[in-house]
Amino acid sequence: MTTLSDVTIIGGGILGLLTARECVLAGLNVTVMDKGQMGQESSWAGGGILLPLYPWRQPDAISQLVMHSLTLYPALIQDVFSSSGIDPECVQSGMLITKNPDVQDAIAWCTQHAITHSTPPKDLVNALTTTLLNPLWLPDIRQVRNPRLLQSVREDLIQKGVQFITDCELLEVRIQQQRVTSITTSTGHYAVQSLIVATGAWTGGLWQRLFPEQTTPPPAIRPIKGQMLLFDTPPGTLSAMVLDDAHYLIPRLDGKVLAGSTVEHSDFDKSTDAETKTKLTDFARQLLPALQTCPVIKHWAGVRPGTDQGIPYIGQHPELENVSMNAGHFRNGLAMAPASAQLLVDLLLKRPLKLSAEPYHYQSVH
Ligand SMILES: Cc1cc2nc3c(=O)[nH]c(=O)nc-3n(C[C@H](O)[C@H](O)[C@H](O)COP(=O)(O)OP(=O)(O)OC[C@H]3O[C@@H](n4cnc5c(N)ncnc54)[C@H](O)[C@@H]3O)c2cc1C
Repeated sequence: MTTLSDVTIIGGGILGLLTARECVLAGLNVTVMDKGQMGQESSWAGGGILLPLYPWRQPDAISQLVMHSLTLYPALIQDVFSSSGIDPECVQSGMLITKNPDVQDAIAWCTQHAITHSTPPKDLVNALTTTLLNPLWLPDIRQVRNPRLLQSVREDLIQKGVQFITDCELLEVRIQQQRVTSITTSTGHYAVQSLIVATGAWTGGLWQRLFPEQTTPPPAIRPIKGQMLLFDTPPGTLSAMVLDDAHYLIPRLDGKVLAGSTVEHSDFDKSTDAETKTKLTDFARQLLPALQTCPVIKHWAGVRPGTDQGIPYIGQHPELENVSMNAGHFRNGLAMAPASAQLLVDLLLKRPLKLSAEPYHYQSVH
């Protein structure tokens, strides 16, 4: 049986990859396995907004990870861009939130977290057709282009010596004295030392299958589908991200505009449907009339790792000594990933913590 590295990470989404990066930077050798290719699931499908939607309505545990991630992103982007040559297109495009019935809470949150806010620029507002209610302009909010970020991190990890095993599904584990000693995958058996589960929306079901003898119930993570559209738009059509009620528009660096997203209970079904396409197209064209003449060129779906409050599980398995998880980031996995990865590896290596780990303990989230 092949013995894998110091650390074996299951799942090559943004959480698995950035956790691998933290491990390798700490001097550990790392293997990442994925049942498909690296970074092709939820992390690929998302909008890449580095801020939760209406963050002041979310639990403080989410703000803690997001705010710390925002401090880590600039160096991360610079490092992976320079080592991979792939630009993750992390752009400070700013975000306009058109309707804020709870504007006092919004302003209090911005003030607490030193997020600049002001009245929106006139040219941006003039390009839109919507009813404004206490509109809020957050000029510093950034976005990343998901597929490019994932490719960039993957290349960086290859250069750092991380081993990738693709098309390799974790199926079973062997447990001896409260430790996982080996795993069975679709491509063979491996001896493991430390196992990190970062399997996104699949984590709840996988946990149940892997650890049927454990008394702790599986993490409450379930698949929540999100559909997105891409408009073929000339550069300059939209200058900033716009959140209007439950939906948003995101202008990419090449000018193309994304419209998203839906929140649907699903069973790992990534199909798209015509009704949703019409709904999102109508939303986008009504909000930004310049899109009337721009065709929709892509329509896709991804499966988010949904939890009740959107708070992820970060930390050790409640019963098994050498198993941890980093999963359940629901709608904000890109925005929370750098801090989540750092927190988990700080816990594993018993390094000083930059954040309290308590809100993300198995027992706290569950
Ligand atoms: C439409 C949409 C819009 C979004 N917009 C945003 C946004 O603007 N900002 C933001 O921060 N977040 C956003 N998100 C959420 C974000 O994408 C997720 O929270 C994040 O991608 C979760 O990352 P992950 O690594 O946990 O999961 P994933 O990227 O899904 O990775 C999990 C990996 O585990 C692998 N895996 C599963 N089971 C096994 C197994 N048994 N063996 C081996 N491998 C396995 C899978 O193949 C997969 O590659 C959005 C999501 C969607 C779908």
